[in-house]
Amino acid sequence: MSKRDYYEVLGVTKDASKDEIKKAYRRLSKKYHPDINKEPGADEKFKEITEAYEVLSDDQKKAQYDQFGHSGPQGFGGEGFGGGADFGFGGFEDIFNTFFGGGGSRRDPNAPRQGADLQYTMSLSFEEAAFGKETVIEIPREETCDTCHGSGAKPGTSPETCPHCHGSGQLNVEQNTPFGRIVNRRVCQHCHGTGQIIKEKCSTCGGDGKVKKRKKINVKIPKGVDEGQQMRVAGEGEPGINGGPSGDLYVVFRVKDHEFFERDGDDIYCEMPITFVQAALGDEIEVPTLYGKVKLKIPAGTQTGTKFRLRGKGVPNVRGYGTGDQHVQMKVITPTKLSEQQKQLLRDFAEISGNTPDEQHESFFDKVRRTFKS
Ligand SMILES: [Zn+2]
Ligand SMILES: [Zn+2]
Repeated sequence: MSKRDYYEVLGVTKDASKDEIKKAYRRLSKKYHPDINKEPGADEKFKEITEAYEVLSDDQKKAQYDQFGHSGPQGFGGEGFGGGADFGFGGFEDIFNTFFGGGGSRRDPNAPRQGADLQYTMSLSFEEAAFGKETVIEIPREETCDTCHGSGAKPGTSPETCPHCHGSGQLNVEQNTPFGRIVNRRVCQHCHGTGQIIKEKCSTCGGDGKVKKRKKINVKIPKGVDEGQQMRVAGEGEPGINGGPSGDLYVVFRVKDHEFFERDGDDIYCEMPITFVQAALGDEIEVPTLYGKVKLKIPAGTQTGTKFRLRGKGVPNVRGYGTGDQHVQMKVITPTKLSEQQKQLLRDFAEISGNTPDEQHESFFDKVRRTFKS
């Protein structure tokens, strides 16, 4: 059975707002909740709704779904960002590691194995996260020893096959139990599971075949990364074992707060203080954006809390899907320090205006009156 489109499941259009998605989910989940709806199929329906909401309510998952459809979250392979790095969403790799990490207990010690993955936490300013940057990071990691080329044996000698386990790294231990004889496999203690014994150790690495080094790596951070996201730099983890491939390096981003802007996905939010005179008469104000100052016309009669949208002044989408907007919310400031002349002018103003707010607010007082009449 093919999966239904998530938008169709929630009965919303592709350009539905977060709020609309939430409302649709609330309405449908109430209708099909298994505690309420005992009709056959309601349970399935509820699960379908919940799944659709989980994806569409999450900016990242939604973007991924919009791009890849149902094959996205499961079959996420990632497109290259150049330089051998591809971009993963935080969390996915964790799941991946849970399933595939650790390795089996029965492995051939001489088989090639992938090196361990490394993680590097990178602190970015708000702007760096928005516009990306190219930087060099230094990570301590194990590298193959140059002296012995990873064998661990002194140059001119080579490791010998362990005579106890014959190279398997494991020994069979027989045990008599009330249920009969049981054969257990244990790690060979003579070679510690490597299957090899080094008689003369390499003096550089002490027989490990690896040395700790600080490696400089060029990292190109794409535009639009966000807090907690991570980028995979393929092949920059620890070196492989027995000729296996290197592990990967995961760069995890921590984005610092901005003193003026707040970010939600690709959109930026800010608050602009205006005087009550500007609010009443209208004005043209200058609003700071990530791209420099922008002029914004505010109409006469602007209320505190009114929002204006500056299109394309948000953060570039990390996958290259356009740029977010900047939302500017007006905050009308009530003056606290007034000169005697200012006070007098305001008293005069109050006298002419009859000291009552405008029509909109009159209806508010009507409501208050009605409430208290009954
Ligand atoms: Zn052994
Ligand atoms: Zn060595």
